[in-house]
Amino acid sequence: MTLSHSLPRVTLNAWQRAGACCWPSLPRPWSIRFSHSASFDYLPSGQPDFTESQIEVREAISKICAKYPDEYWLACDHEHRFPHELHTDLAQDGWLGICMPERYGGSDLGISEAAVLMQTLSESGGGMTAASSVHMNIFGLEPVVKYATEEQKHRWLVPLIQGKDRACFGVTEPNTGLDTLKLQSTATRSGDEYILKGSKIFISTAQIANKILILARTTPLCQVSSPTHGLSLFYTDLDRSAVQVTEIPKMGRAAVDTNVLFYEDWKVPASDRIGDEGSGFKMIMHGMNAERILVAAEAIGLGYAALRRAKDYAKERVVFGRPIGQNQGIQHPLAESWMELEGARLMIYLAARLFDQGYAAGEYANASKYLASEAAFKATERAVLTHGGMGYAKEYHVERYLREVMLTRIAPVSGEMIKNYIGQKVLGLPKSY
Ligand SMILES: Cc1cc2nc3c(=O)[nH]c(=O)nc-3n(C[C@H](O)[C@H](O)[C@H](O)COP(=O)(O)OP(=O)(O)OC[C@H]3O[C@@H](n4cnc5c(N)ncnc54)[C@H](O)[C@@H]3O)c2cc1C
Repeated sequence: MTLSHSLPRVTLNAWQRAGACCWPSLPRPWSIRFSHSASFDYLPSGQPDFTESQIEVREAISKICAKYPDEYWLACDHEHRFPHELHTDLAQDGWLGICMPERYGGSDLGISEAAVLMQTLSESGGGMTAASSVHMNIFGLEPVVKYATEEQKHRWLVPLIQGKDRACFGVTEPNTGLDTLKLQSTATRSGDEYILKGSKIFISTAQIANKILILARTTPLCQVSSPTHGLSLFYTDLDRSAVQVTEIPKMGRAAVDTNVLFYEDWKVPASDRIGDEGSGFKMIMHGMNAERILVAAEAIGLGYAALRRAKDYAKERVVFGRPIGQNQGIQHPLAESWMELEGARLMIYLAARLFDQGYAAGEYANASKYLASEAAFKATERAVLTHGGMGYAKEYHVERYLREVMLTRIAPVSGEMIKNYIGQKVLGLPKSY
């Protein structure tokens, strides 16, 4: 079996041909050691475990990513500038509807293909910035696809897939965190409307989104037979006259905003509720398994990007008369990272296949998110250390990867909560939380 790397490679020439020279660049005082390395070195398109449609997605997304080299992502991060160009390119080629039905403009593919898309975006060097700029649009409306009425699907999915609407996802709250069932936002019915009151925290892309998928309690916790009941899900306009949106300065992924939302008297049409009142938690959980798989794919993409840079640098950098990569102290941790990333990758695509086949339990989705984020964190940390002092310099990109990869260990669910879930649901141990 040959592991041929047949994918298009990102080169400075491709970037220049794409007219990207207008993107601002940072000063590069050490340009003599600058290495513009290509992506995709570690995941050949001829991988036997990839289906034909996955290979097609991989190749098509690689071509789009070739227009966006590392310098583009560095500039986006530096200037806190949303990567609108990538979003537009992906929308124009129909990628935002990759796992949505064809009748609304989607491609009717599965999470298996969407995971390839997200891995490739991240692995190209775009990291979590590229992935998060479209993440919500790719998976987030799963509850709409599965539970909304035909009228709602037409109203919501068509403009989203066309890239005209931008959606954000509002679940996390300041006072309840991972304890989603205790969330305190309320939605009170008043005629044809609901009045929403409460707050959300860490809501990504709310600065640019015009739509939000939001979970709120319609029946007080003390009045429901199970805490999973009484939560309702809405997909509605992010009405800025009623919702105060404040950006949170954060560690990484500066180009894609994250925000606190505060609302006291936000009127939402009852026709924007998805499914039955009180059954929102079940619907949001359906989307969450898909999200874990996609975040896992994004994480290993970043891990491979870091590994690629680390091995390039380890080959080129000569200290004590030989390339640093000739030292086992440098080489072995990188070899370990490759094995760990590949192990996680196999789990991710197993989880994706099971999800696409209708398997509802979340152990493989959760496990792949955990394994991928840990493997990617180790790979990015190793990449920084391999670069020595240059690992700390922005022009070598790996410090940005390390800042971004932390996110995959925290969100959408932490490693601790995944272990709680596996301990209880897979091993049958007493619930610990
Ligand atoms: C950059 C960024 C973007 C985000 N984007 C979105 C978004 O778009 N929409 C959205 O809804 N949310 C978003 N989130 C929120 C994210 O999903 C949460 O931060 C995450 O779920 C963790 O919740 P928390 O921060 O409230 O942590 P907490 O619940 O406060 O937990 C804090 C720590 O305690 C641990 N812990 C808590 N309880 C237990 C227990 N019983 N056992 C073991 N450990 C425990 C956790 O694992 C964690 O390490 C985003 C977060 C970040 C950082």
